[in-house]
Amino acid sequence: MRKKLKEQIVQEFPHRCPYCEKTITYEQFNLKAGENEIKCPSCKNKYVKVVAPSFTEGDHGSRSE
Ligand SMILES: [Zn+2]
Repeated sequence: MRKKLKEQIVQEFPHRCPYCEKTITYEQFNLKAGENEIKCPSCKNKYVKVVAPSFTEGDHGSRSE
């Protein structure tokens, strides 16, 4: 079951703070496309997370018909 294993790895790939390596849930930061300043809730360090435009489909998902 190689395929299944691969999917699990992708899903469980944690987002982590680059300073303390604590797993961070980005949902609480209301990420937008581009650069987002993230303040780690654990170690209080700030870092920039870059989000690809496709990640936030809700903002500009309306297509011209
Ligand atoms: Zn941290």
